[in-house]
Amino acid sequence: MNIHEYQAKELLRRYDVPVPQGCVAFTPDEAAHAARKLGGAVWVVKSQIHAGGRGAGVRVVKSIDDVHASAAQMLGTTLVTRQTGAAGRVVRRLYIEKGCDIARELYLGIAIDPATSRVTIMASAEGGMAIEEAAARAPETILKMAIDPVSGIQPFHARRLAFGMGLSGKQVGAATRFILSAYRAFTELDASIVEINPLVVTGCGNLMALDARLSFDDNALFRHPEIEALRDEGEEDPTETEAARHALHCLRLGGNIGCMVNGAGLAMATMDILRLHGGEPANILGLAGDGATNDVSAAFRLMLADPKVEGILVNVFGGLTRCDEIAEGVVAAAHATGLTVPLVVRLAGTNADLGRQILRDSGLPILSASHLADAAEKVVGAVRATQKNGGK
Ligand code: ADP
Ligand code: MG
Repeated sequence: MNIHEYQAKELLRRYDVPVPQGCVAFTPDEAAHAARKLGGAVWVVKSQIHAGGRGAGVRVVKSIDDVHASAAQMLGTTLVTRQTGAAGRVVRRLYIEKGCDIARELYLGIAIDPATSRVTIMASAEGGMAIEEAAARAPETILKMAIDPVSGIQPFHARRLAFGMGLSGKQVGAATRFILSAYRAFTELDASIVEINPLVVTGCGNLMALDARLSFDDNALFRHPEIEALRDEGEEDPTETEAARHALHCLRLGGNIGCMVNGAGLAMATMDILRLHGGEPANILGLAGDGATNDVSAAFRLMLADPKVEGILVNVFGGLTRCDEIAEGVVAAAHATGLTVPLVVRLAGTNADLGRQILRDSGLPILSASHLADAAEKVVGAVRATQKNGGK
């Protein structure tokens, strides 16, 4: 789950990470009021969307009138950035921040490196927009430090990173405290990403998080109701939000075959084998729990709500999940949704024979598959045949 910059800064502030003063605003009047309250002579009006590279969505202004005018212009506009996709995001909130005198822009990122399974801290002397270029041109200039989960972070890790960012003197101590605090926020909040870009050195030589991006591990959110409360559904994919409501995992992928699976490994295998047979998954809907009829019906509704979906592949391996329950769910869902596209079902594991029997007895035109490759072949073939016959 992602949160907004202003929320991320509020959380980091609690961990003693230095951030500029700022206020969230939903209207131009609130924006002007916030700027007056903050005081000073320079403010930054920042569009709050769950994406970076905001470009014109971040504006430095030098009068209260300009804060008001910029806010009026920015609210309601659709911002398209590298990270939003072509559709962009509508700006509904702004963050009004005190202008900061920037001497240098550095980069700090914390994430889990899947290659080492360790929390890894990344730092670079080239922050701001320059980091993308540095990552492409000279990735070795980005320092990486994997932290041993048993001993945790030690001050020398942070000092080494501070020197690597080109800091010296008192700034090394400040950077060490900064990095240790950001790391503590990462681990205590069960974050998956903490990214400070830019981390700036101010004109007075202080360090400050000028931007902040925090992402959280969805599987740990139950431990953090205060973070769950920060969710902005306006920023999330409505299909994924609806799926979560039915305890389903949903991943949208843009192809034309809806896939319902159980388990992440099976999801990967299904995508791979589907592609191998010339198909493109529209989405992956993962059943999180048992084969309760409601879940399957909701999964079918969600898959069919995508106008691109021309076929459905159900691929379930029954362990604790019983295939007969899944089959019953599939039959009920097929009845409820009217089954407008070809449906291929592959069941294996607990009660698979019984499941297949239920599908056969339903009298519905469900194609049963004996194994994974067979399933992929059948669904791709059925979709192609329907396309030839002039669509769904
Ligand atoms: P994004 O990541 O969307 O590009 P940032 O918050 O990183 O947005 O801001 C982009 C740039 O705007 C920063 O690199 C910095 O130069 C400038 N900026 C952002 N916030 C401030 C601020 N409070 N004071 C002065 N300049 C700022
Ligand atoms: Mg940034």
